[in-house]
Amino acid sequence: MLRRICVYCGSRPGGDAAYRAAAEDLAAEFVERDIMLVYGGASIGTMGALADAVLARGGYVHGVIPKMLLEKEIAHEGLTELHVVTSMHERKSMMAALADGFIALPGGLGTLEELVEMLTWGQLHFHNKPCGVLNVRGYFNKLLELLDHMRDEDFLRADNRSMLLCDDNPAGLLNQFDLYAAPHVEKWQD
Ligand code: AMP
Repeated sequence: MLRRICVYCGSRPGGDAAYRAAAEDLAAEFVERDIMLVYGGASIGTMGALADAVLARGGYVHGVIPKMLLEKEIAHEGLTELHVVTSMHERKSMMAALADGFIALPGGLGTLEELVEMLTWGQLHFHNKPCGVLNVRGYFNKLLELLDHMRDEDFLRADNRSMLLCDDNPAGLLNQFDLYAAPHVEKWQD
């Protein structure tokens, strides 16, 4: 079962209250399922809203933030655990190692980069952990279209295209994660 999930999301709140509400819904689902949140350690934007909502429900939050962003992203002071690392690369690899799966909520370039990096690592079999997007207000539709286009133009294998799970509802997405993880767990146990 998935115990620790890394969530990539915006250092900005976004222009619609639905984004914060989606972060709070995901947080509630994490706590309900006893899933630990791994994230970038900031107190601002959707990142902060997500961490606050997990903590408010008594859940566990592990943040990983680079020293140079401590002030800019205002490190969250109330986390269960906060790792201060020396670089962005260290942050990303620590978050990847800590987590059993990766979810992107709506966000900006940092969110996109981190999600796509995990997909490329999956494509290279560096990991076989589930990756998904919570498609709030169809935010990721254009990214999904681009990935379909890459597949149709034969730059992306169909099995790698299907690595990216998608749902507009946190429970639905986490159910897909469980299904994705199950055969892998059996395979490792063989
Ligand atoms: P954004 O989606 O641009 O608001 O960024 C969300 C988070 O991703 C923030 O904590 C950023 O610091 C982080 N981020 C941006 N670029 C990178 C990067 N190259 N490596 C790791 N994290 C990053």
